[in-house]
Amino acid sequence: MRSRRIPVRMLPSIHDAGWVDWNRRPYVSGETAYVPVRDGQPWDADIPPREVYRGRGFFMAGSIAILQGKEPAPEEIDRIEAWKKPSAILWVRSYRGAERIPDVRVLRGEPGDVCHREMGMAFWFDPARVMFSPGNRAERTRMMKVAGSGERIADMFAGIGYFSIPAALAGAQVHAMELNPVAYGYLCRNILENRVASRVVPECGDCRDLLAGSYDRIIMGHFDSPAFLDTVADHVVAGGTIHLHATGSSPPDIPESCRGWLCETGIRRIKKVAPHTWHYVIDLKVA
Ligand code: SAM
Repeated sequence: MRSRRIPVRMLPSIHDAGWVDWNRRPYVSGETAYVPVRDGQPWDADIPPREVYRGRGFFMAGSIAILQGKEPAPEEIDRIEAWKKPSAILWVRSYRGAERIPDVRVLRGEPGDVCHREMGMAFWFDPARVMFSPGNRAERTRMMKVAGSGERIADMFAGIGYFSIPAALAGAQVHAMELNPVAYGYLCRNILENRVASRVVPECGDCRDLLAGSYDRIIMGHFDSPAFLDTVADHVVAGGTIHLHATGSSPPDIPESCRGWLCETGIRRIKKVAPHTWHYVIDLKVA
């Protein structure tokens, strides 16, 4: 793979660069990122094609391998262990309740705090205790692009800071709300880890009680968000934006009660979450 070598910490600065081939992922080794270049663009490192893994699907959260879906067979676990040599292998059957607590079984090794690095950001968490969604990567990167410098943003379901931190790195002032004290602990750690403490105010509790004043942008990163829309009506400026996360077999309609003050400006299909069920993000503009 023809690529350009850059320091890992520079990754956030290239998300708009025209020379990057985003159809392939940067390859990180230590503090160096090898960023794939588009045809015809100058390159300075040619990475040998990597051996292809053909076993059971999984994803890595830091050094921990995570499987979802049906129970894995022992030989599937062995193949992942041989391929990736993870510090632990977890099987997450589902995420339960409003706080999205992982229903998890430890298959190999010992879980614990890991650091997921992405676009030069660091997210610490224990995947056996809080959810992690690799499929939201594009949306996390998008929040870094759409958040305006100096904007006041509410991240109502902040988790460990997946959207708060990219928005703060873009220069916004973020009010990050999180109900789950475990996720909130990681949120506070990740704010310090990414050096955005001057731009993110974290609060632990129910976002419906914590929303304060008016925001230019509201991120509603929870599948139950449509049920919270009425709560935000008094907390977003005219012309402001709401990013509403929801699921369905097709993009959900704006609730009847909100049609008078909201209009849809865009829909993104993020990832499949179950048979015939997708995760959508609907961008809404406040009249
Ligand atoms: N936004 C992050 C992301 O996209 O990965 C986390 C999303 S996770 C699905 C939803 C988060 O919202 C969980 O951490 C959960 O604890 C939190 N949550 C659920 N209900 C909440 C509420 N009423 N107020 C604040 N946070 C809430």
